[in-house]
Amino acid sequence: MKKPFVTKKQVQEIAGKYPTPFYIYDEKAIRENARRVYSAFSWNKNFKEFFAVKATPNPRLMQILMEEGCGFDCSSETELMLSEAIGAKGEDIMFSSNDTPAGEFVYANKLGATINLDDFTHVEFLEKAIGKIPETISCRFNPGGVFKMSNGIMDNPGDSKYGMTREQLFEAFKILKEKGAKRFGIHAFLASNTVTNEYYPTLAGQLFELARDLQEKTGAKVGFINLSGGVGIPYKPDQEGNDIEAIGNGVREQFEKILVPAGMGDVAIYTEMGRFMMGPYGGLVTKAIHEKHIYKEYIGVDACAVNLMRPAMYGAYHHITVLGKEDAPLDHIYDVTGSLCENNDKFAVERNLPEINNGDYLFIHDAGAHGFSMGYNYNGKLKCAELLLCEDGGCELIRRAETARDYFATFDCIGVYDDLDRIMKKKGV
Ligand SMILES: *Cc1c(COP(=O)(O)O)cnc(C)c1O
Repeated sequence: MKKPFVTKKQVQEIAGKYPTPFYIYDEKAIRENARRVYSAFSWNKNFKEFFAVKATPNPRLMQILMEEGCGFDCSSETELMLSEAIGAKGEDIMFSSNDTPAGEFVYANKLGATINLDDFTHVEFLEKAIGKIPETISCRFNPGGVFKMSNGIMDNPGDSKYGMTREQLFEAFKILKEKGAKRFGIHAFLASNTVTNEYYPTLAGQLFELARDLQEKTGAKVGFINLSGGVGIPYKPDQEGNDIEAIGNGVREQFEKILVPAGMGDVAIYTEMGRFMMGPYGGLVTKAIHEKHIYKEYIGVDACAVNLMRPAMYGAYHHITVLGKEDAPLDHIYDVTGSLCENNDKFAVERNLPEINNGDYLFIHDAGAHGFSMGYNYNGKLKCAELLLCEDGGCELIRRAETARDYFATFDCIGVYDDLDRIMKKKGV
């Protein structure tokens, strides 16, 4: 059973100060999980987790992860700026971008970030952009075909836009080495949201063999192997979660089987997890404001897909707990909807839930990664606040809710923004 990390009483108190909807994150659990990750890979001397900023781009949360030893995986200019803003430096930043504008390579290089090249043509593109090839450089690999594990096909790299072919990778290493690169990395992301302890070890086995061959054939010194993201979380209550300790051990077995005999026991393992670091430790809290009985039973809440897009976008399951009714029988069947003029704006479809009354608070689980960050402003909806449930039990506002002023700010070029005070006055705010 999934249990929210806040109670109805806590939420009532918080909502008195910060109206729903809001995101809330659990500091203690974030820290404990990060420590489990570091412990699982403690056998590897220079292991580092580069938190995938896109999952939860909030500087306060990034700061917490930085205190736990994490660096940051960025793929855009603003993500780099966020990392810079909280004091992340140099090789604490991984720049795993794709289709990268030249200016972003320039900025990443200025920060001293490790640049992970998505494509063979980016070797030349990067050199043109920054006037050199950095000493530390990484390349992203795409093996093509399908990615299989013992329980079947996991994903379809042959269909994915990322990374270089094997041949391109060998060629890229040769050229980068000639141009002065000294410390090389390889990176691959072959399956998303895997809930099996086998994913990282299987991927690691393939990358370790590749790294060994690359070093042997090109003489390029492989300094790190980046297993990237893809370690998933159990969104459904009957799913069993990943055991990060077992995953760490599985990677270690491959490391000792493949890299150590090749004299590559000093290679650092990097990860770029987003979902696993933050997903379970953030929830979206929303209030039931309408019930509707037509051909189906609907509960209308004050959040919508703008706040959490995953269900609308790919039918993703997010578990819902009605706060204060944790033990009530699930004897009602509801569609839980938001207010967008889009019929896919539903947090749950035909879900068994306890009876929901107007004013009830719903806790939407596992929204801590790829939740708030996917938000948008369709229907002129504004993004909600983010709160941190602190280790000491307090509650901290870590991102205020958007206001109409934020929405209007980009119209400053046509004078509409200047008129906002008059409009706001009329609206009574
Ligand atoms: C999205 C992404 C990640 C994080 O993925 P999760 O599934 O959240 O762990 C890591 N690296 C890269 C390059 C990504 O694009």
